[in-house]
Amino acid sequence: MLRVRGLKVYYGRIQAVKGVSFHLYEGEAIAFIGPNGAGKSSILMALSGVAKREGEIRLKGREISRLAPHELVKMGIIQVPEGRQVFPTLTVEENLLLGGFNRKGEKGWIKKTMEWVWSLFPPLAERKRQLAGSLSGGEQQMLALGRALMGDPRILLLDEPSLGLAPMIVEEIYTTLKKLREECSLSIVLVEQNARLALNFAQRAYVMESGAVILSGETGMLRRDDTVLDVYLGRAREGFFE
Ligand code: ATP
Repeated sequence: MLRVRGLKVYYGRIQAVKGVSFHLYEGEAIAFIGPNGAGKSSILMALSGVAKREGEIRLKGREISRLAPHELVKMGIIQVPEGRQVFPTLTVEENLLLGGFNRKGEKGWIKKTMEWVWSLFPPLAERKRQLAGSLSGGEQQMLALGRALMGDPRILLLDEPSLGLAPMIVEEIYTTLKKLREECSLSIVLVEQNARLALNFAQRAYVMESGAVILSGETGMLRRDDTVLDVYLGRAREGFFE
């Protein structure tokens, strides 16, 4: 689905990502984990065309590294940003409609997809006309996800979906993500501080440090890897992933 080679991301003279390569299969979830400032979010920013980048990015063989953010959205590469970033003064419904801007004019499709989003996230359906700014953190995360789904994604880029949320809500959100991947064959690139969550959810993961990938592989293997256990998960090793 996606093949990235030698990706570099810059903010002015700061180089946040130093030549990272990875791939993503259709219907697969991969995760980037690692400490603060490792460059995880910058990878998503590069994939969605927001950050200044170098390197090769191919979607189903097509080189897309020079496309603008709106063109990448049209191709189905859609980001759910860190901190949700819903439009607080618009209603829940209006936020969703904005997510479907690339399908504007296709009323039937928008109506059908919105119904689907209401069914995935019943709390949103009960709050259609409520201002997004008045939603709880968990509801805002659902809305951010729903808004991305309205854009008809083929690849969902998720930046810290668990951040600041209660464990029960996190579980609910991850259950929905699993359903989307398994039932709709959505491909997912996940960035998570919470390595336990990420390694339980994704099929493969890339461990980052200082802008580079220092380890990658199937999550089943990484969950038992000493480097991961020591450096990223601390000392509570036994049963950490159960
Ligand atoms: P975190 O989990 O803390 O967000 P991260 O692994 O996602 O960490 P990035 O946010 O990608 O890391 O940041 C990588 C590096 O790039 C850091 O050194 C950060 O300070 C720098 N950086 C990120 N965004 C910007 C920006 N807009 N301007 C300048 N430097 C930035």
